[in-house]
Amino acid sequence: ASFEDFKLNKQLLGAIAEAGYEVPTEIQQKAITPILAGQDVLGIAQTGTGKTAAFVLPMLMKLKYAQGNDPRALILSPTRELAMQIEENIRTFSTYLDLRTVVLYGGLGPKTQKEQLQKGCDIIVATPGRFLDLYLAGDVPTKSLKFLVMDEADKMMDMGFISKIHRILEVVPRKRQNLLFSATMSELVRKIAGDFLAFPTVIEV
Ligand code: AMP
Repeated sequence: ASFEDFKLNKQLLGAIAEAGYEVPTEIQQKAITPILAGQDVLGIAQTGTGKTAAFVLPMLMKLKYAQGNDPRALILSPTRELAMQIEENIRTFSTYLDLRTVVLYGGLGPKTQKEQLQKGCDIIVATPGRFLDLYLAGDVPTKSLKFLVMDEADKMMDMGFISKIHRILEVVPRKRQNLLFSATMSELVRKIAGDFLAFPTVIEV
């Protein structure tokens, strides 16, 4: 198997090669095609399996170019560290694409993040609390969101983010593609997956 087997454009294939990725990992092998096809995906995968690129690559392929100023993709992360890692992956693979990413997390004042949002972006990577705070302050336009990812859902549940996640689901458009990744499948993850995903392709690695 090779990355050339997927329907990715040459800008993405170039960035993948430059990142030194030669062979897709199992989760990439199984997830990229259904995500490109527009399906909801439930991925059971640990950190270290290549799960980040498994959703970032098809997401970038679907977004491709900046389109207006409203974000079209929202990636929710339980922690600032993971949010920054995801942003780093996005940066690596979008070298030859025209896309803007903003990262939102707490622990510091919102001023810089507000300014970044005002300039417009295509992708938001965010922790749930800071995302909601900025949304409620009127700083995040959500009507163009069509791609929603929840990463490390088990950790989100452990950290007590379930009500924030439900609140976020109330303020994003109904018609959208959803991806949920989790290292484990607990009762709470099953519940949030049921609320979040529509007829998902289930992938376990
Ligand atoms: P992740 O599970 O997304 O946190 O990725 C774990 C590590 O594997 C990261 O350092 C990635 O850059 C790396 N990685 C992911 N996919 C591949 C691949 N197909 N080939 C080589 N390295 C990869």
